[in-house]
Amino acid sequence: MARYKAYNPDQSLLLPVTLKNHIYPGSLEETIDIMVEKHLDLTLFDQIYHNNDTGRLAYHPKVLLKVILLAYSRGIIGSRRIEQACRENILFMALAGGHHPDHSTIAAFVNSMKDFILDFFVQILMVCSELNLLDGTHFSLDGCKLPSNASKEHSATFKELKKKRGKLKEKLKGLLSQHIVTDKNDEDIREVDKSKRERRIKRIEKQIKRIDSFLNENNPKQGKTKKEIQSNITDNDSAKMPTAHGVIQGYNAQVMVDSKHQIIVHAEAMGNGQDADNLKPMVEGLKQNLKTIGNLENPVEGTILTADSNYHTNENIDLCEQETIDAYIPDTNFRKRDANFKDQKRFRDGVNKPPKKKGKFEKFSPDDFIYDKKNDGYICPQGQLLHLITNHMVNRGTIYRVFRIKNDACQNCLLRDKCLANKSAKQRYLLIPIETDENVEKPVSPSARMKKKIDSKHGKEIYSHRLGNVEPVFGNIRYNKLLNRFTYRTKVKVNTQWLLYCLIHNIEKISRYGFAN
Ligand code: SF4
Repeated sequence: MARYKAYNPDQSLLLPVTLKNHIYPGSLEETIDIMVEKHLDLTLFDQIYHNNDTGRLAYHPKVLLKVILLAYSRGIIGSRRIEQACRENILFMALAGGHHPDHSTIAAFVNSMKDFILDFFVQILMVCSELNLLDGTHFSLDGCKLPSNASKEHSATFKELKKKRGKLKEKLKGLLSQHIVTDKNDEDIREVDKSKRERRIKRIEKQIKRIDSFLNENNPKQGKTKKEIQSNITDNDSAKMPTAHGVIQGYNAQVMVDSKHQIIVHAEAMGNGQDADNLKPMVEGLKQNLKTIGNLENPVEGTILTADSNYHTNENIDLCEQETIDAYIPDTNFRKRDANFKDQKRFRDGVNKPPKKKGKFEKFSPDDFIYDKKNDGYICPQGQLLHLITNHMVNRGTIYRVFRIKNDACQNCLLRDKCLANKSAKQRYLLIPIETDENVEKPVSPSARMKKKIDSKHGKEIYSHRLGNVEPVFGNIRYNKLLNRFTYRTKVKVNTQWLLYCLIHNIEKISRYGFAN
């Protein structure tokens, strides 16, 4: 009879597993590991843990930071999914040293980083500088509007909120009286309907309480023109912003990028959709970061700054001139003036522009006013004279002659709706352009000076680099790292999340260009 060796298909082997061996040399994971272990000062976190005598041992901040950076680099943003990755993915296990922190620890850790995140960002920037990845002579600025964890439907002015609260109170009153009557008469109402109504009452009470506490704890928000703008109950730091895909409730994520390797030198999430308002804080932040890494007194002096036409305002151009920054910020019409774009229909015919309102809502244009040579004024469609008030008013690089009608002449005019800018306007002004300021030898307005500069051959050449400098950063963060919305509320938390994404973008650059060379 044949004899065989015994075998067991379920036989186990005891093999040593070193998690770190699964991290490939030269990979992003290895760079994250090196950066967090050797270049970031995480002792800052010691002050927030108070467990030296009692309490559970905390996860080391290095473990949590590595895991979060790796997750963000792979488009994993939710803390529950990060927790899952720490249990299932060998690379996460390796960076976490075999730990698997739960989702609430991960979310709380991101929140706790708000005071230190800028320090970490600058420390990584310092590594980039040491590895010679920064050029430091040309920076490009841009922003990207992203929705956040706030509801657009909860945006309103204080007046609208009070009105909404009134309506809810009315509704609550009706439901309560209905409830009392049913109880009193001991009506045969199904138990399920009764509990449904009770739930509804509780929900409305909660909504009223929420509006009440919001109105008590906050002041109305004011816009640039000092008029009240909409507040948001869920996240009052966020703002309603128009985008190419509709209106969103969220933040305007700004970045200042160095031209050499598209390294982000400053970043901030702003609760303001107007890019033009964000240039000043971004330049301040850039100066601060460069000072920290280079110890220079004025590190932006003589540097080039390129930004798109959303940033073109007299104030911003003035600011750049004061800071001795060589700025290239075009106006919205610069492509129309550029002969290289003469075949580009959209810059010639304005095909992307919405059609002008026609019919009875169409307003009178300057062509509807007739010049009166004798009085050096204009006659309006109602036959009234508009007299000259100034020969020289400069606006956005154009010099105008300004005419105005007598104080009370428009008060009872039947053509007010077609003639005046809005219902509250008291009288009609007429602006007649006489010359474009940039044609003058020494342009007066900053805007005209910029037009002259941007239309020059040198200006066009410099500005042409903007697109390649800053847009790939948004491409990487939005499409490779899948950041399509912020998952936090309030500016500090959203800003922390944005800076974490910018941090991993820079670490990726170090991995690719720094250690490779
Ligand atoms: S609103 Fe004033 S300026 Fe316009 S048509 Fe009437 S009177 Fe003339």
